[in-house]
Amino acid sequence: VITELRIQPSEMQRLVEALGRYGEQPGGGIVRPVYSPAWKAAQTQLGEWFADTGLEVREDGVGNLFGRLEGQTARTVLTGSHIDTVPLGGRYDGALGVLSALAAVRALKEQAGRPRRSLEVVALCEEEDSRFHANFWGTRGILGLIRAEELDHLVDDDGMTIGLAMRSVSLAPEQYHKAVRPDLDAFVELHIEQGRILYDEQVPLGIVETITGLYRYLTTVEGRTDHAGTTPMDLRRDAVQAAAHMALDITRVVEAEGRPAVVTTGKWDVQPGAWNIVPGLASFSVDLRHPDESTKQRLAVSLQQTCDRIAAQRGVSVRYELASDVQPMAMHPEIQRALIAAAEAHGLAYRSMVSGAGHDSQLMATRVPTGMLFVPSVDGRSHSPAEYTTPEDAARGAEVLATALHHLAY
Ligand SMILES: [Zn+2]
Repeated sequence: VITELRIQPSEMQRLVEALGRYGEQPGGGIVRPVYSPAWKAAQTQLGEWFADTGLEVREDGVGNLFGRLEGQTARTVLTGSHIDTVPLGGRYDGALGVLSALAAVRALKEQAGRPRRSLEVVALCEEEDSRFHANFWGTRGILGLIRAEELDHLVDDDGMTIGLAMRSVSLAPEQYHKAVRPDLDAFVELHIEQGRILYDEQVPLGIVETITGLYRYLTTVEGRTDHAGTTPMDLRRDAVQAAAHMALDITRVVEAEGRPAVVTTGKWDVQPGAWNIVPGLASFSVDLRHPDESTKQRLAVSLQQTCDRIAAQRGVSVRYELASDVQPMAMHPEIQRALIAAAEAHGLAYRSMVSGAGHDSQLMATRVPTGMLFVPSVDGRSHSPAEYTTPEDAARGAEVLATALHHLAY
């Protein structure tokens, strides 16, 4: 194990600040959705950095960007994350994983030379689901999970199809199938924790054991519109009151289950949406997560039973539309061991943990041995301009990543 690999905090800070300028808004926060001009400019900048490092630069059919260090065999160890952001996101989510991968591969190239397996840095496109409902689009491309009809069916809020958006940044959407990579032996993703466990415990590294399962559906409650002045309370079938009651009660069910179960009802729509009309229709999103599949399924049933009961009490109807059902995903034991050995080689404390956020790694892990390394998020802040990881923590993370990649590729 190479323990002399050094990556400077100032170098990580410089990279984070430089990439963070793409899509940065005047009032703070980054808007860099996939296939936007800001995203394209960030890709171009990354490509220049890859080339400056002496890596072979290539963009695939869906817009994943690679920097490759050719090894003695064509079998490949891939490392990286994504550079698209949520609206008004921070500079670290995804970006730090790509920049750490670049810094790590650069250090390995300079200090360890040519690898046995080829080493490749990747900026995956569209992880966040913030423009198209195309979660993990780049990873799906690599794994051959994109279906041709999606190119015309997935649209953003302006009605633009993902196929046209790809053309707007000079990609050829019909080439999507060429993104498939049968040569991957491993994928390692460094990411900010996006929670506060490492920060509170003052542990610099998290080694992910499992990425949480996700169950996401839209609940729609239908009551009856009536006059807000003339309809007595006891004769109403108010969709919003029923929906609010449901949201409160399902929150209580999940609170009673305790950590790490979480539920969020973050997106609401009310019809017709007037001061003087008893609302007839209300819908809200339900995002339920648990790292144990059977617990997740049990809670999902319990939440819908709770809503069915309230609907009956209040004389409204309720229906559910499933948006996604993602199983928890264990990280590969060999990659976890490589990360643990690397942390120990650097004399750094670490803890094993569950990822409560979804990542490309959870899909990649269905086909490729995959592992994740977390670094602390100050105050646990993420999906916010307040997102911050200290340059020291970023550099230590990149060094441990480099040492783990050395173990896997040399
Ligand atoms: Zn991310």
